[in-house]
Amino acid sequence: MTARIIDGKRIAAELRARVADEAGRARRDHGLTPGLAVVLVGDDPASQVYVRSKHRLTQEAGMASFEHVLPADVAQDELLALIARLNRDPLVHGILVQLPLPKSLNTEAVINAIDPAKDVDGLHPNNAGRLANGFAALSPCTPLGCIILTKSVHASLQGMNAIVIGRSNLVGRPLLQLLLNENATVTIAHSRSRELATLCARADLVYAAVGKAEMVRSDWIKPGATVIDVGINRLVDADGKARLVGDVDFAEVSQVAGAITPVPGGVGPMTVACLLVNTLRAASAIAGLPKPAV
Ligand code: NDP
Repeated sequence: MTARIIDGKRIAAELRARVADEAGRARRDHGLTPGLAVVLVGDDPASQVYVRSKHRLTQEAGMASFEHVLPADVAQDELLALIARLNRDPLVHGILVQLPLPKSLNTEAVINAIDPAKDVDGLHPNNAGRLANGFAALSPCTPLGCIILTKSVHASLQGMNAIVIGRSNLVGRPLLQLLLNENATVTIAHSRSRELATLCARADLVYAAVGKAEMVRSDWIKPGATVIDVGINRLVDADGKARLVGDVDFAEVSQVAGAITPVPGGVGPMTVACLLVNTLRAASAIAGLPKPAV
C-alpha cells in the first residue's frame, strides 16, 4: 500500500487565495486593510527566512505588512515599548513576535504584553485559555494548519482516535484542544510517555510534533491511518549535503499509512497561510465586522 500524499503547498496556496479574496472585499466594502506586524529580534538565519516569507505572502494576500527588526541585545523594556505601540496602532491588527527570542529576554512577559485581540500566534494566555474552554479564540497557526490538512482527507474527525506526540504550547497542546473541538478522542504523548509505539498503533490520526528526525516508524502506524508530520529537522548527509526531514520516517511510513504529509511541503506552508487567516479574522473582529468566510 502506498499512502496518498497530502499536498500542503497546494492546500496552503488555495487558502491564501481565499484570504486574498476576503481581504479585497474588506477593503472595497469597509475601507479595511488588515495589517500584520512581525517583530524579529536578532539575526537567526532560520527566523530571517520565516519573516521574509511572511512579509511577502502577507503583501501578496493584499494585506499590509510591517516588519520590525531589533538587535539581539535589545533591552526587554524597549521590546515591550514596541509591542505597546503596535497594540495602539490602528493600522496593525495582528502582532507576531518571531520565536525563539534570545535567552536574555523573558518570552512569557513578551507574549503576555500583546493585546489578545491582535495575538495572531494564539499564544497569549487569554487565547490559550479560551481555546481550552472551547470558546472562540485566535488559535496557533501550525495546529490550525494540521486540522485543515486532516480535513482534506476526512470530512469529519468525530469519534476518530488521534494521538499528538509533543505537548508544546506552540503545537501539541493547542492541537489537542482543536482535535477535541472536532470531537476526536485524543491521546497526548511526550518524552515521559511509555510504549509510544503501542499508543500510536491505535490511532486513526497521528500528529508528530517532537523535533526528532524520522522518529516515527512504520510499525507504529495502523494501516490506513492519516499521518501529519509537523517536525522540521536538518540532516546532513555523509557527502555534506543538508536536507530537511520530518519527525516521521516518510519512506517507511508512506508504505503503511493511508495519507501522509511530506516534509517539506506539508505542514510548513499551512502555518503561514493560517497566520494570514488569523490576521484577517483579527482585523474583522477589531473593526466589528462579521467573521470572514475563511
Ligand atoms: P518543543 O521542543 O517545544 O516540544 C517537543 C515536544 O516533543 C515536547 O513536548 C517533548 O516532550 C516531546 N518529545 C521530545 N522527545 C520525545 C520523545 N522521544 N518521545 C516523545 N515525545 C518527545 O517543539 P515544538 O512543539 O516547538 O516543535 C516540534 C517540531 O515541530 C520541531 O521539529 C519544530 O521545528 C517543528 N515545527 C514546525 C512548524 C511548522 O510550521 N511546520 C512550526 C512549529 C514547530 P516533553 O514536553 O516531555 O519535553
